[in-house]
Amino acid sequence: MKFKKEVKRHCPYCKKHTSHKVKQEKNRGKNKTHTMSRGSRLRIRLRGGDRGFGNKGKISAGAMTKWKRFNKKRTKKTDLRYLCSECRKSHIQKSGFRAGKMQFE
Ligand SMILES: [Zn+2]
Repeated sequence: MKFKKEVKRHCPYCKKHTSHKVKQEKNRGKNKTHTMSRGSRLRIRLRGGDRGFGNKGKISAGAMTKWKRFNKKRTKKTDLRYLCSECRKSHIQKSGFRAGKMQFE
């Protein structure tokens, strides 16, 4: 999908329409964004798991890519950031839309 590099949007800080630079945020994995979430590697390590010999079937689920329902959806929702050109503050989009490939021009 083609998207403009600069769009005019309402800035909640300036309280008027200004031109914004658009940036697509990279999709980091769950382990990076939610380091302490349930089932994360760090939590397993804190309670004494993920060490030594054998894991009693706790973290040997295998590679995600080999799971049956892995990646059924071919597209991902966008995560755009808008940077105001006047106050240099950035804000996020309200809700993402599905797009296979984002192309900025
Ligand atoms: Zn602004």
